Amino acid sequence: MTETGSMSTNAAPGAHFIKSIIEADLAAGKNSGKVATRFPPEPNGYLHIGHAKSICLNFGMALDFGGTCNLRFDDTNPTKEDVEYVDAIMEDVQWLGFDWDHRLHYASDYFEKLYGFAVELIKSGNAYVDDLSADEIRKYRGTLTEPGTDSPWRNRTIEENLDLFGRMRNGEFPDGTRVLRAKINMAHPNIIMRDPTLYRIRKAIHHRTGNAWCIYPMYDFTHCLSDSLEGITHSLCTLEFENNRPLYDWVLDHVDAPCHPQQIEFARLNLTYTVLSKRKLIQLVEDRAVSGWDDPRMPTLCGLRRRGYTPEAIRNFCDRIGVARRDSVVDVALLEHSIREDLNVRAPRMMAVLKPLKVIIENYPEGQVEELEAVNNPEDPAAGTRKVLFSKEIYIEKDDFMENPPKKFFRLSPGKEVRLRYAFFITCTDVVKDPVTGDIIALRCTYDPATRGGDAPDGRKVKATLHWVSAAHAVDAEVRLYDRLFTKENPDEKEEGRTWKDFINPTALEILKDCKLEPCLADVDPGYFCQFERLGYFCVDTKDAKPGALVFNRTVTLKDAWARVKGEKPIS
Ligand code: ATP
Ligand code: MG
Repeated sequence: MTETGSMSTNAAPGAHFIKSIIEADLAAGKNSGKVATRFPPEPNGYLHIGHAKSICLNFGMALDFGGTCNLRFDDTNPTKEDVEYVDAIMEDVQWLGFDWDHRLHYASDYFEKLYGFAVELIKSGNAYVDDLSADEIRKYRGTLTEPGTDSPWRNRTIEENLDLFGRMRNGEFPDGTRVLRAKINMAHPNIIMRDPTLYRIRKAIHHRTGNAWCIYPMYDFTHCLSDSLEGITHSLCTLEFENNRPLYDWVLDHVDAPCHPQQIEFARLNLTYTVLSKRKLIQLVEDRAVSGWDDPRMPTLCGLRRRGYTPEAIRNFCDRIGVARRDSVVDVALLEHSIREDLNVRAPRMMAVLKPLKVIIENYPEGQVEELEAVNNPEDPAAGTRKVLFSKEIYIEKDDFMENPPKKFFRLSPGKEVRLRYAFFITCTDVVKDPVTGDIIALRCTYDPATRGGDAPDGRKVKATLHWVSAAHAVDAEVRLYDRLFTKENPDEKEEGRTWKDFINPTALEILKDCKLEPCLADVDPGYFCQFERLGYFCVDTKDAKPGALVFNRTVTLKDAWARVKGEKPIS
């Protein structure tokens, strides 16, 4: 079963529980009428469509209420982070259409202040240095049903703790030998509250602070204090942090923090036929199951961009799925519907033949070329018309011909008449085969000059209209067709003896090297997009297309599964 967030409620469009909370806060005069949010990525991977939900929510709330939204890198784990990710994340947020203005922050900029807060906790008796190993700490923690046990180091004096913490900072102890822990309650029903670790020793080079630090603050300590230092009012995060909220509040209540932001959790985006965990996306890249983070099969923002998704389509998708507190899985068909809907009104229609079959029109004058008028976009009259060239030899799609057709096949077959889009009716008179292999290599046809433009003056009808390109004028291109990256609706679902990797779709990429395009596409730039009639929406690849060597990606087919399910008018 798939459902779509808050879509099922009948609240006003764009309304959701977080918006209601903020409205109520403003009405009550909370935070002096201010709304300040932040998007806090960890620079340890590229952003994906799930992050887009969070970006649209955080920046969206700031825009809706005249507030501000910061971009803050949560960069407290030096071993997994990299400037490559920092740069890519900024590019993606901007591409989505959001502006953090001068409000760019790094948690690492707060390291000195965070250290000060830790010292404050030690001085008030609320934190201690523990010498237990990571394994021992785990053992002492207890379980969901049993309380934990106090560490033998829990009752060190404040002086000893201050001395040891200072020496941890000075690099006197090896990695993993000591940590700083909050002194809360080892019997707390919420395991997260059983003296959580606040600092650990990690002698690693940080991508921004270099070797200035060898102790690094943990997420739960860093996040709430960074929010507070930035004057965040509403700290929006995903549901898995619900159990961390008491710790978020505890830290802020036990130091002299500038303000106490409110943490509010929402359901993360899950998509059918997709994995959205950074850890798994990294594995796909490292295993070379895809060509990189920006492989057009990836659910990353750079992958979707390269595939031909527009920021408008993604923002629209995020609006549609809404924001709810209940976990749900969104049908990937809705994402595909969103890009179709956007491109439908914007993409010029072109003709391209992906698997060409030559057609020789026997009664067409040798050497003659004529121009026929084609509509650029039936959804947009302002897009006007263009000329397409017609000549004696053309290409049609291999799949549009069958020598021995079944009853319901209405396209071309021996003796059948069909329409060539914007051109003429043609009738197949003969099939040319390779004498050795027996493969069909060309068709011989006749055309009816009286049907110029696509209609017969005598009113006779045909049951199919085919796209085509003039052989002598066609431009060659490589075209890449994509399918969903996973064959299973929920690749993360546990299955005996199989892992999510076993459901990678081996045919998610099909490369067609011998495609024939309308000549006006000869010089289009990387990123150019259009519809190839009957085949889908396509764009010029931004990485592999070179002058004189066109490479197109199929963004999405025309078949709209979502519109069908919802009984909406299918998009043509
Ligand atoms: P992943 O689980 O994919 O590794 P993450 O949560 O570790 O992601 P962060 O860089 O910490 O990645 O995420 C930045 C923000 O984006 C966080 O506030 C996080 O809650 C949010 N976010 C991440 N994944 C999703 C998702 N699938 N849907 C909505 N928000 C998400
Ligand atoms: Mg995270």
